[in-house]
Amino acid sequence: MLPKPPPKEGALGFLYVPPYRVQGFSVAGEATVVQAPELDICFDMGYCPRAALASKFVAISHGHMDHVGGLAYYCSQRVFQGMGPGTIICDARLAPAIKRMMDGYIDLEQQVTPYEIVPLEPEQEYEIKNNVVVRGFELEHGAPAFGYSVIEKRSKLKPEYVDYPQEKLRELKERGVEITRILEIPLMAYLGDTAPCPQLVREDVRKAQVVISECTFIDPDHRKRAKIGKHLHVEDIAEWLPVLECSALVLIHLSRRNTIAQAKRELLSLVGKEKAERVLFLMDQRGSRLRYEEQVAAAEKLATDAQRD
Ligand SMILES: [Zn+2]
Ligand SMILES: [Zn+2]
Repeated sequence: MLPKPPPKEGALGFLYVPPYRVQGFSVAGEATVVQAPELDICFDMGYCPRAALASKFVAISHGHMDHVGGLAYYCSQRVFQGMGPGTIICDARLAPAIKRMMDGYIDLEQQVTPYEIVPLEPEQEYEIKNNVVVRGFELEHGAPAFGYSVIEKRSKLKPEYVDYPQEKLRELKERGVEITRILEIPLMAYLGDTAPCPQLVREDVRKAQVVISECTFIDPDHRKRAKIGKHLHVEDIAEWLPVLECSALVLIHLSRRNTIAQAKRELLSLVGKEKAERVLFLMDQRGSRLRYEEQVAAAEKLATDAQRD
């Protein structure tokens, strides 16, 4: 008998959550990498798919191998492909170990790969685009762990000056009066591995347009397992969902113990059809494909309707 060819694997999950694409791969314990191309950032780098190279920034949630396995490769390959050095944003507690890892590769490769490392203290921010920052915050896991929010900062006229004529505003500004305030618009939040903790309901997570979160366990019998491993269980997600204002909650890091179909069924039975609608699973290949086809059809219909008018 002929030997079987190896299994087909490695297709990236893909979701279009206007105005963002969320793409990558995520299975608990194996690898997690989630890319938001519009924000030029990847969250975690468990392995480095080709598409992930295009993002200049990678924010690392914690040091477990399924979240950092592709980090050195990402840095090296970006330079090899002429894309410039990558920038690693991480919890300051992780920075020395990341540096030691990268130093190890200098000996192995007999060459130096340039990269930038940005160690963040809790609540510290780093600008990734004009007026867009990444903010790190502490989570609870078996290793030092960070979540991240991506926030747009818009400068707005203070309400008391809204009706002032331009000339008067200029005069105030020249006199050194602070006439604007900074408005924060949380665009995206990313929660890698974590136990349920108060950070889940912080404002820049609750109000984020898109929330990406781990949900490792599904089975009602696995509550204890989730607690021991400091992970989220789908029952935690069900409890959390009502306070989230996001248009989509993207779940990642599902254990191989459960199928996507089981996860969707369990979620549906916990929160009902209406609430389950904005919860998406990154690795739900079939569901995501159907959803995308519907989005394409809707966009095409809109275009032809506009032509007719
Ligand atoms: Zn993990
Ligand atoms: Zn972990």
